[in-house]
Amino acid sequence: MRAVLDHVGIAVKDLGAALAFYRDALGLEIEAPEEVAAQRVRAHFIPVGETKDWGAGAPGVKLELLEATAPDSAIAKYVERRGPGLHHITLRVDDIEAALAQLKARGTKLVDEVPRAGAEHGLVAFIHPSSAHGVLVELKQGADRPPAADQQRPASSAISRYTLGDLELISLFDGFLRLDGGAMFGVVPKALWARHATPDEKNRIQLAMRPLVVRGARTMIIDAGLGGKEDRKFHEIYGVDRSRNLDHTLAEAGLTRDDIDIVLATHLHFDHAGGFTERDASGRVRPSFPRAQYVVRRGEWEDARHTNERNRASYLADSFVPLAEAGVLQLVDDDQTIMPGVKVRRTGGHTMHHQMAIIESGGRTAAFVADLVPTTAHLADPWIMGFDLYPMDTLASKKTFFKEAIEKDMLVFFEHDPAVAAGHIREEQGKRRIVPAQSRS
Ligand SMILES: [Zn+2]
Ligand SMILES: [Zn+2]
Repeated sequence: MRAVLDHVGIAVKDLGAALAFYRDALGLEIEAPEEVAAQRVRAHFIPVGETKDWGAGAPGVKLELLEATAPDSAIAKYVERRGPGLHHITLRVDDIEAALAQLKARGTKLVDEVPRAGAEHGLVAFIHPSSAHGVLVELKQGADRPPAADQQRPASSAISRYTLGDLELISLFDGFLRLDGGAMFGVVPKALWARHATPDEKNRIQLAMRPLVVRGARTMIIDAGLGGKEDRKFHEIYGVDRSRNLDHTLAEAGLTRDDIDIVLATHLHFDHAGGFTERDASGRVRPSFPRAQYVVRRGEWEDARHTNERNRASYLADSFVPLAEAGVLQLVDDDQTIMPGVKVRRTGGHTMHHQMAIIESGGRTAAFVADLVPTTAHLADPWIMGFDLYPMDTLASKKTFFKEAIEKDMLVFFEHDPAVAAGHIREEQGKRRIVPAQSRS
């Protein structure tokens, strides 16, 4: 039998006091509590495993604070009899039934001869302390876990909806693409970034394309993904998977392309502006939102029209030149309101005129940050893309933005995160993390 330490259970009398120590004094992160109804206990897990502390459900050793939810719970009785303290240790086994059979055959005294439901969707069984030299030992067979190399949240192609004051925000999806992991994290060593994003055999990491719809007095879409004009070779180089794309997710949101009044560009890179145009039956490229005005920052337009050796591969003229030809292009010179509640703000950095959208309604604020913070793995200041033309400007913009985002508790949209469409940023001891926002159902 192979058994590895899973967690150490601590019986708690006063949860507030326990949190004051474990969370506040030690600075540990507490996961959302989990109720184990059968045992009338609430479990608060605290990841303390080395280098494995980046997400709920990730393997790694944890502490478990156990709080009784009823006076007749075993934990309540334990605390009453012996005071709060170390309660049990939990060893994870692959096959709990086999483990119990083996122990039984050797005369081990078991509390549970048959496994029962435990926290974290696992099966558990206790061994009596008299057989374990005074320690209550819990065996646990975990719920099916992702393979060890892939400890991130699962990729998602789902749409999500949020209400912000009078506005409705709908995060759409135009497929996945794969970009070089090194290029996505700039000066950060692979030994660090590979913990957050597992590279494929070509060293590429998976990214999503998530345009955002804002519905208010008018209906706006911010960026539009890659679109459908690129050929197979392009799809192979960038690992594009558009088997689920903007057409599907617009329909799921109850929208058609005719509903869009305004298309707003954060910048004109192909993974943001490709979907601005489409090829018609005759092979001609035309705007893909037939009724919309397309809003582009003038400096970005100029740069995209006059590329150089460094930025050329990122711009595909077919995604934006036809907008000018069709007379639907509206160039804006500076930060301003594009529709009630939606302002653009230049961030620079990624490109000289890269802009984000700040959305405000009913006293709440959201931000669509595009390539300023492409994924939730880019929350730390120096985690800046190698693609960025002016990384020091990105750094300055990130610092300013995060300060404001935390102060205003902004709902932040991550256009390229493979799993998390939006969330709120928390900062503790200088370390930022994301609390994913729950989609309105
Ligand atoms: Zn870009
Ligand atoms: Zn991008």
